[in-house]
Amino acid sequence: EQSGAREATPRPRNLVNLLPNYSRSPAAGKVRWVASSNESWMSPSPAAVAAMAASVQRSNRYPSLAGDRLVAALSDTLGLPGTQVAVGAGSLALLGQVLAAFAGPGDEVLYAWRSYEAYPILVTLAGARGVQVPLDAAHRHDPEAMLRAITERTAVVLLCNPNNPTGTVLGINEVESFLARVPGRVLVVLDEAYIEFSESSGDTLMLLPKYPNLVILRTFSKAHALAGARAGYLLGGEDIVRAIRKVAPPFGLSAVAEAGAVAALADTDYLLGTVAAVAGEREFLHRKLEARGIGVPCSGGNFLWIPEDGRLATVIERACAAHGVSVRAFDGAGVRVTIGPRLASLAILAALDEPAAARP
Ligand code: PMP
Repeated sequence: EQSGAREATPRPRNLVNLLPNYSRSPAAGKVRWVASSNESWMSPSPAAVAAMAASVQRSNRYPSLAGDRLVAALSDTLGLPGTQVAVGAGSLALLGQVLAAFAGPGDEVLYAWRSYEAYPILVTLAGARGVQVPLDAAHRHDPEAMLRAITERTAVVLLCNPNNPTGTVLGINEVESFLARVPGRVLVVLDEAYIEFSESSGDTLMLLPKYPNLVILRTFSKAHALAGARAGYLLGGEDIVRAIRKVAPPFGLSAVAEAGAVAALADTDYLLGTVAAVAGEREFLHRKLEARGIGVPCSGGNFLWIPEDGRLATVIERACAAHGVSVRAFDGAGVRVTIGPRLASLAILAALDEPAAARP
């Protein structure tokens, strides 16, 4: 019996076995440009870098419990009371908290598919059941189909806008008419990780007073170029924000990330420069892809979606890797290409012109 006890090892809960893996693109060949994780190719704002460096000196101290400085800065900048703001280690951490607070066993969480690949992971982790509603033929959310899929069990709806990986955008009017028809007991999470890159989506903040079941998720990872620092924020009604804060691990936002985010938020010129650079290069690559007969949906993000269409996503991924660019293939669906500098765009185009990757 003793030896049996020695051999026994702790077994993870069943849902751990059910969890899908978050994919990373294989690093094939010599990667010169990483275009597979929707990061910024530019360094963060120099002000953010300096603030983070200064913060490192004080790393002997714990940060505030709930990121109070960043909450105050966001509250100032956005014109919302601090009680309507929660911050965390990336919007992923906040989404985990949302699901921990509002969805569990027996609940359904509705989201479009294809959408952000972390959704099925976090929903499973929360013990809830994911319900995936296909995008329409134009790779856009299908709000009518999503409304039809809402049941008594639906606790949360995730709306990724712009949608990762297809880049498609719902305008504020479409978002609002969706919200107007969702039962008030269902929490709607508007994931706006890429919103700064989008012109057409409007200012969804103004929907918050009218729809108490709405929360907005944003991040410093993309337009603010702080993906490695891990900082994100959530906006919503006071009661909902209180619940979301309650399930946060204490000290979840590092002091370094908080310092970087506060400085980045204040550096509007840097943000505008980044957004303009991405929009310019996105336009260039989009035009060149269309010229090759590739039907690319208009993107409101820092990436473009090349739907699988006669050639396999994995074939395109390999061709790009051979040209020094790592992109993200979604098997059977398409390839997502993060916008980068002109040389990266040219390398992607050269890869697509290879006979193996060219359309039959
Ligand atoms: N939402 C979407 C749609 C994303 O694409 C990402 C990052 N790829 C995230 C959330 C998570 O971002 P963060 O770095 O803030 O956790």
